[in-house]
Amino acid sequence: MSEDCLFCRIVSGALPTDLLAESERSIAFRDISPQAPVHVLVVPRRHEPNIGALAAASSDDLADLFAMVSQVAQAQGVAQNHRLVFNTGAGAGQTIFHAHAHVLGGVDFSDHGLGL
Ligand code: AMP
Ligand code: ZN
Repeated sequence: MSEDCLFCRIVSGALPTDLLAESERSIAFRDISPQAPVHVLVVPRRHEPNIGALAAASSDDLADLFAMVSQVAQAQGVAQNHRLVFNTGAGAGQTIFHAHAHVLGGVDFSDHGLGL
């Protein structure tokens, strides 16, 4: 838990959010500024600055996060068409330095973005 981390405050319940799923290790809630019709953040309860640090710290937390991504994609109706984004570093667009997955769906990504 980091006092000045927004996602730690959401995890602890100090800040309200549009919660979609929770487990012992992870939570999922809607992004406050959605970039697609479905835009959900899946966040480990453990504070680590990015996904690589989470992987190094706990494979159990990492596995739980991916299981929740799958659960959220199913529940949101985008299991067959979604994009998973992890930003690492300000240069990649990371603004909150608590690891999180963006689950994006509800739009055709095949002609968007970087050709990825
Ligand atoms: P990133 O740029 O990868 O660090 O992603 C951070 C995301 O958190 C952005 O897409 C923001 O829109 C989102 N965000 C910021 N504050 C909140 C909040 N209070 N509740 C939900 N999402 C938020
Ligand atoms: Zn945090």
